[in-house]
Amino acid sequence: LLDGQAVDDHQITVCVRKRPISRKEVNRKEIDVISVPRKDMLIVHEPRSKVDLTKFLENHKFRFDYAFNDTCDNAMVYKYTAKPLVRTIFEGGMATCFAYGQTGSGKTHTMGGEFNGKVQDCKNGIYAMAAKDVFVTLNTQRYRSMNLVVSASFFEIYSGKVFDLLADKQKLRVLEDGKQQVQVVGLTEKVVDSVEEVLKLIQHGNAARTSGQTSANSNSSRSHAVFQIVLRPMGSTKIHGKFSFIDLAGNERGVDTSSADRQTRMEGAEINKSLLALKECIRALGKQSAHLPFRVSKLTQVLRDSFIGEKSKTCMIAMISPGLSSCEHTLNTLRYADRVKEL
Ligand code: ADP
Ligand code: MG
Repeated sequence: LLDGQAVDDHQITVCVRKRPISRKEVNRKEIDVISVPRKDMLIVHEPRSKVDLTKFLENHKFRFDYAFNDTCDNAMVYKYTAKPLVRTIFEGGMATCFAYGQTGSGKTHTMGGEFNGKVQDCKNGIYAMAAKDVFVTLNTQRYRSMNLVVSASFFEIYSGKVFDLLADKQKLRVLEDGKQQVQVVGLTEKVVDSVEEVLKLIQHGNAARTSGQTSANSNSSRSHAVFQIVLRPMGSTKIHGKFSFIDLAGNERGVDTSSADRQTRMEGAEINKSLLALKECIRALGKQSAHLPFRVSKLTQVLRDSFIGEKSKTCMIAMISPGLSSCEHTLNTLRYADRVKEL
């Protein structure tokens, strides 16, 4: 791979990550249809049959800034995605990092940390690795004299409503003032002095997110999780820079509009709307367009200030499940990511 700084000039970086095939998948004879022949290319080998039933493979090739093979670990993914954006927030900009993909593709594993059985170790997730680098950068000669205060928040957007993951999932209101400044009213924002303190918050939020859910009725696959690190000059309420990390709702939920259950259909429609609005907002990053669909969804509304600044930077990691049974969702994910890329 190229040096981590190579993507530093882009406002938008779009990467793809293939997760390894699991033992469970191997046991049920799932086959791996994804290859990563180059560090910037991923191919889906889709089995097809002609009219006369002759079988063939249709190869769908996609190019991205980086393509991470199933041998890459979180540290490697972090190095080429979120890490170069840490400097952005010290330079007074806004940074965002999105994990996009279907349920089970590895979004939470990448962002929140690896699972050890049911227990999630947040230390090797992107949230924690970025938090660590924020403190390292804060203490460098260049930025120490700026006296910046670090704080963190963690919330979830579920069915268009915001819940505080650091305060017993308390429901919060979103307000917009006349100057289009968006505020999540009452959101817990903890001032943190060390990476250990941030790790505790992440661990707490991760646990809150998954508490009381079964795999059959998994709320986390239907909600967006937003972890934020904010820098402010000491004694000021003004934001110097902000890094937002978003573990998005499973994108397959957005197409599930045929469900018999009304609640499920409505949630699907909401997720679909937010992911479509997100795509438009990212594509217009830094361009002061009045017509952007921020208000269409809570997700884009609360992230508004991260899209409009000239110094805003974003990276998207599209997560891929390797199995044949995921092929259709995989192609949807790759086409979406392809559209997000800078033109
Ligand atoms: P999502 O959040 O996209 O629904 P998860 O992060 O929960 O998906 O991952 C689904 C399962 O796959 C989990 O058991 C997780 O531990 C495993 N997994 C995901 N990505 C990887 C990876 N890169 N390496 C090993 N296991 C992974
Ligand atoms: Mg998840």
